[in-house]
Amino acid sequence: MGKFPVADKAFLSVIICKKCKARNPKGAVSCRKCHYPSLRPKKVKRKDAKGGAK
Ligand SMILES: [Zn+2]
Repeated sequence: MGKFPVADKAFLSVIICKKCKARNPKGAVSCRKCHYPSLRPKKVKRKDAKGGAK
């Protein structure tokens, strides 16, 4: 699978709107797209970084 380290890193500081799935900056209290007040942190799956993972 193609993986983009930069984008992957950006996901760590993103929260997802439960309604429209829009990405919002971490710390946002409501979706900036639909203003839905319920947001969830982006799931981060930890994988074994076999070198090269910066
Ligand atoms: Zn939304």
